[in-house]
This record gives sequence, C-alpha cells and structure tokens, in this order.
Amino acid sequence: MKNVRRVKIGNVYIGGGEKIAIQSMTTAPTSDAQKTIKQIHELEEHGCDIVRVAVPDMAAAEAIYEIKNNINIPLVADIHFDYRLALAAMERGVDKIRINPGNIGDEDRARIVAEEAKRRGIPIRIGVNGGSLDKRLLEKYGSATPEAMVESAKEHVQILEKFGFYDTVISIKSSDVKKTIQAYRLAREAFAYPLHLGVTEAGTYKSGIIKSSIGIGSLLADGIGETIRVSLTDDPVHEVDSAKLILKSLGLMEQGIEVVSCPTCARCQIDLIPIAKEISERLENIEGRLKVAVMGCAVNGPGEAKDADIGIAGGRGEALLFKKGEIIGKISEDKIIETLLDEIDKMKG
Ligand code: SF4
Repeated sequence: MKNVRRVKIGNVYIGGGEKIAIQSMTTAPTSDAQKTIKQIHELEEHGCDIVRVAVPDMAAAEAIYEIKNNINIPLVADIHFDYRLALAAMERGVDKIRINPGNIGDEDRARIVAEEAKRRGIPIRIGVNGGSLDKRLLEKYGSATPEAMVESAKEHVQILEKFGFYDTVISIKSSDVKKTIQAYRLAREAFAYPLHLGVTEAGTYKSGIIKSSIGIGSLLADGIGETIRVSLTDDPVHEVDSAKLILKSLGLMEQGIEVVSCPTCARCQIDLIPIAKEISERLENIEGRLKVAVMGCAVNGPGEAKDADIGIAGGRGEALLFKKGEIIGKISEDKIIETLLDEIDKMKG
C-alpha cells in the first residue's frame, strides 16, 4: 500500500498512519453562528473529529470567525466557485477548505487561493462529484465513470501542484456505490494524498447507512481511506454514530463496550428487542473493554455467547445472568436492564 501523505487539519492529522478521522457537516445556516455552534457541539459529543460548514455567501464566511472560536474540533469551509469566499474563510481562521481549483475561473484565482492556503498551512480538499462532472470529461468517457472522476481529480490536483501546493485531500464521490468503490481504488493507485471517503446523496437513514457502510466499509477493509463521512438525509449526529460503528466493525476504532445480541427465535420468551436496544444505547459511549451478550434463551444463549464477559439469557418472565459462560444468578424480566448495567459498572470499576 502506498505511503499516504500526512496532512494537518487544525489539531487533527489524517494520512501517514493516523487514525481514520470522522467527519460530518452542519445543516443550520452557517450565517447563523449560534445555531451552527450548537449543532457542532452536539457532533463533538457524538465523536465527530472534523466538521464542515457550507459557505455559500459572504455572510456565511463572516460567521466563521465566531464559529471557529467557540468549537473544539477543526472547521472546514465548503466552497463552490467563488474564490473570494475561500480567501474570506481562511482569513477568519478556518482549518481546511473544500474547493475545486479547476472550477473557480482562471488559474490566477487558483494560484491566489493555493498561495494563501500554503502561507497559512491550510489544506485543500478537492471534491469530485459524479453528478457535477465537467462536460468535456462526460463527453470523453460517455458518462461519469470511475475513470472520468479520477481524471477530473487529477486535473484539479495538477493545478495545485503547479503552484507548489501539496497539502491536498481528495474525495471522489458518486451516488452509485460500486462506482464509488471503483473510483477510490483507482484514486489510491493514482495519488499519495489522503482520501476522504463517502458515498454522496446516499439517502435517508436506513438506505444511507447501508450504502455508506458498503461503500466506505469495503474500501477501509482494503486499507483505502484516511477520513470518512457518512452522508444521510437526517440529523448529522446519525452520520457520526454510523461512522463510528463502521470503524468499530472493522477494528479501526476502539470498540468500547461491545453488545452482542441474538436475533431471537421461537425459543425466546421475554421481550428481548427493547431490552437489547436500551442496553446498547445506554452503553454506547461508555468506556471499557467488555463484551456484553443479550440472548433470548437459556438453551443456547450462554453457549452462543461463550466469549462474552457478561450477559443475560431469557427464560419465562425472567433471565439468567451469566459471566464467561457460567450462570451466576436469576433476574426478573423488569429488572434485567438495571441489574445488568449495575453488574457491568462493577466490572469496569
Ligand atoms: S439465543 Fe435462544 S432465542 Fe436467541 S436465537 Fe439463539 S436459540 Fe433463539
């Protein structure tokens, strides 16, 4: 695998063997600094590493100073076409900009942006999107193929390199999962710059999470990608939560307390699904290295969850409590959640 360049975004590094950074994007109007700051604080609490705001106009660029000074994670300004907005955002302390240097008019503007970003140590993300590919490339390739998208990225990269700028991050997104995977594979061969992974317009909660997990997950499993964003038509905190689960599933992030639960079957005689959901939610951001099993029956439960540190196995209106596969007690159904959480608390301490 290529040695990927290490790029500094505020106080976070990506590439060069650093941990995979989770990104998300605010939905409040950026010009409303207070609303945007509130949303970023929520994203921080959920574990977002880098946050992006759209900068569609000067009012948004002007709000960056206040936003930047009231948050704790690096801030990225998303800019289309207008190089003056990029300059204004950099002047107000943004940590990274997303702009395509080939789309901002003549090269002189790209030079001004590249030089200013270099002077301030601000990286630039080139974001190629299958839906807005240059006409010339669409004609050459017939459609927004992975090759066409990578060629577009190369053109933008070359503009920055011409001006001596190398702190570049690249994304090549398509709403088609297979095309996205193929494009990033080609991009990894073509570039040593960090890759920002994502499936664009992935959709609403369920389909968006599935598409992103397949697209981002298969690339990460192959060692491709340095930072990720799950795009959802939903509250962005779900983007961060899903990104964490993708990373945890691939062993790319400390697991914390892992909850395994059985799918239930006709042997299950307790209302297991809400119990498993509540236990998972309440343990979500708790530190520790435990595996907790929530199983539907005593016939197979403890056996199926042999490697769990602690767990319950449902019976009729009650559950058995087990540790390391050994049954150590009985709990009535209404006390399962609290008892299990208490026991976990003791084990952590
Ligand atoms: S643990 Fe019991 S209830 Fe759950 S799937 Fe296995 S056999 Fe069915």
